[in-house]
Amino acid sequence: MKNILEETRFIMKKYNIKANKSFGQNFLIRENVVEKIIESSEVEKEDLVIEIGPGLGTLTKYLLERAGKVICIELDSKMIRILEDRFQQYDNFELLNQDVLKVDLKTLIQREKGNSGIKKVKIVANLPYYITTPIIMKLLEEELDLESITVMIQKEVADRLIAIPGEKQTGAITYSVYYYSMAKGILEVPNHSFIPEPEVTSKVIQLKIRNQPPIEVKKKEVMFNIIKSAFMQRRKTLLNALTNAKIFENKEEGIKTLRELGLEEKIRPEKLTLQDFANITNQIL
Ligand code: SAM
Repeated sequence: MKNILEETRFIMKKYNIKANKSFGQNFLIRENVVEKIIESSEVEKEDLVIEIGPGLGTLTKYLLERAGKVICIELDSKMIRILEDRFQQYDNFELLNQDVLKVDLKTLIQREKGNSGIKKVKIVANLPYYITTPIIMKLLEEELDLESITVMIQKEVADRLIAIPGEKQTGAITYSVYYYSMAKGILEVPNHSFIPEPEVTSKVIQLKIRNQPPIEVKKKEVMFNIIKSAFMQRRKTLLNALTNAKIFENKEEGIKTLRELGLEEKIRPEKLTLQDFANITNQIL
């Protein structure tokens, strides 16, 4: 692998690029981190890779050599010329100058899967941190035909995403990630691995999309609404949070439901497993 720091400096100088903070631009400059992302994403010739925010193309170059096809989605039009100059000779390269949150990924994936040769679709990215959560939620909630998502994000968010629900460091999003995928941490990345340096430590994580949800629930939308209500008022007990949110008609009903499910009256939301939330949902529907 070439010296990525030198290459990045060279490209930035050549195209007169200054990292744009409002686009969340922190360019990766460490070979070992690039290697780890590429290796752990397990990209093969029959894969379509969708890279979100390719920036100067640091990861793109290695993805193009391994994947059947790479579709890059980049919002900053300044990056587009650079990416076109660097990669237009690859016939497996496609570039969309769009906001990833507005791209119809379902149609895009269907189109590509219809093409012979593409068997699996993998997301690989060093994400723009200002929209980490909406991007991950879009990728999961749209129930796209994905194999895996390998992304670098802020460590603090990463730890919440890959936590096991019911254990430490959970938030409402922990339950969504667990419902849709099996998540693991790959590598912690110190802030001097980027230019400019972000203020926070980063982490590469991988979500392998499940074929089947890990629990059965009558209506998952209702369950996720209950989870959201429970965590909106974190300091409160589950009973108070769900009573205030009118999920339980009143406290007595709530106590009865919790008792029937073997849950303590004073239990806090973060102690519940996904199965517990599924049980509450199934009980009240
Ligand atoms: N992949 C490059 C790297 O690793 O050096 C750049 C990563 S940088 C953290 C995030 C990239 O996402 C930037 O290139 C930025 O312009 C792009 N970006 C920001 N918001 C975006 C959006 N809504 N849709 C697509 N790309 C976006």
